[in-house]
Amino acid sequence: MSFQNPVFIPGPTNMPEAIRKACDMPTIDHRSPLFGQILHPARAGVQEVLKSETAEVFIFPSTGTGGWETALTNTLSAGDTVLAARNGMFSHRWIDMCQRHELDVQIVETPWGHGLPADRYAEILSADKEHKIKVVLATHNETATGVKSDIAAVRNALNAAGHPALLFVDGVSSIGSMDFRFDEWGVDVAVTGSQKGFMLPAGLAIIGFSQRALDASKTAGLPRTFFDIADMTKGYAANAYPYTPAVGLMNGLLLATETLLKEGLENVFARHTRIASGVRAAVDAWGLELCAASPDVYSDTVSAIKTPIGFNATDIVTHAADHYGVAFGVGLGEVAGKVFRIGHLGSMTDVMALSGIATAEMCMVDLGLDIKLGSGVAAAQDFYRGTTGYSLKSAA
Ligand SMILES: *Cc1c(COP(=O)(O)O)cnc(C)c1O
Repeated sequence: MSFQNPVFIPGPTNMPEAIRKACDMPTIDHRSPLFGQILHPARAGVQEVLKSETAEVFIFPSTGTGGWETALTNTLSAGDTVLAARNGMFSHRWIDMCQRHELDVQIVETPWGHGLPADRYAEILSADKEHKIKVVLATHNETATGVKSDIAAVRNALNAAGHPALLFVDGVSSIGSMDFRFDEWGVDVAVTGSQKGFMLPAGLAIIGFSQRALDASKTAGLPRTFFDIADMTKGYAANAYPYTPAVGLMNGLLLATETLLKEGLENVFARHTRIASGVRAAVDAWGLELCAASPDVYSDTVSAIKTPIGFNATDIVTHAADHYGVAFGVGLGEVAGKVFRIGHLGSMTDVMALSGIATAEMCMVDLGLDIKLGSGVAAAQDFYRGTTGYSLKSAA
């Protein structure tokens, strides 16, 4: 691997120099007001990125997976029913975590490449007259398949059924890169991590709780210690943690939120859409298809690209690493060997994306696929020339 080339994996993402440096700081006393000067603005910054006025933000030394566990263990009791769709590796893993916590998961099996079936959710929720379902899980962006789902539609399904279940959203590969509206969508728990849209190293679970989710935590029976939000809340009141926080990462998170908000969330989202559209233009020019079944579910943070039957897509990833020092994502689970993934989120520019497209193209030609060198690059160049978002003013 080269330490100079950008990575094109959908997390961890490339780190802007300033954010990387912000993580590198001298030791401070994490039980002093000085720590509060990092903690409180970082939490406020996350709240703004979530587009929420009221979400209670918790930051744990962990990863997105710890965020899932925070969501479940603080709000549910063993035997509680949870509704979830399985349409990729990440929704699968969250379901698996529910089951290991002795929750009863009503699983809606959904073809990989499709979004969450909000209409099925609506039917199931209206049929649940006794309100046995306590929580609805929704993976906003399935990183394994490059599929985004319509969270507003899931909220509408809940509302249409007059169902009181809480709505938990995995936004690990969308928050900070794709439009996410905590308040407007009536999200009760939002989960993310530090190493995707926030452009930091892995190491933080970042979670937002609504008032209803906080209320549920008062009676939730699942055991929790490290991820107990009540302990964390007590800590925050004293500028502290129930244990030792990852201070450097949190200082990085503070700068990451400032950076995103300075660029402007809508500009950040537009940049991701533009870069992703260029990648999709390249895929089209190669004559290949995305795993995502239709344009309405195309993810703006990761593209999972199907390779021809009989070809092992993982070879592209191995070859790119071995010959060009560039990282792409392999296919996971059901689509292992069938797709390779280009991550295009976080600190990413048109020009960086072009280098990834060019590298993928070289690999595919090296490995004997019937692809014309330069075809994808040219398609993306055409797209980026007409839509470039670069301006001296926005250059960081
Ligand atoms: C990366 C990812 C996770 C897991 O996060 P970790 O930080 O690796 O624990 C969960 N959900 C989605 C959608 C992801 O992309």
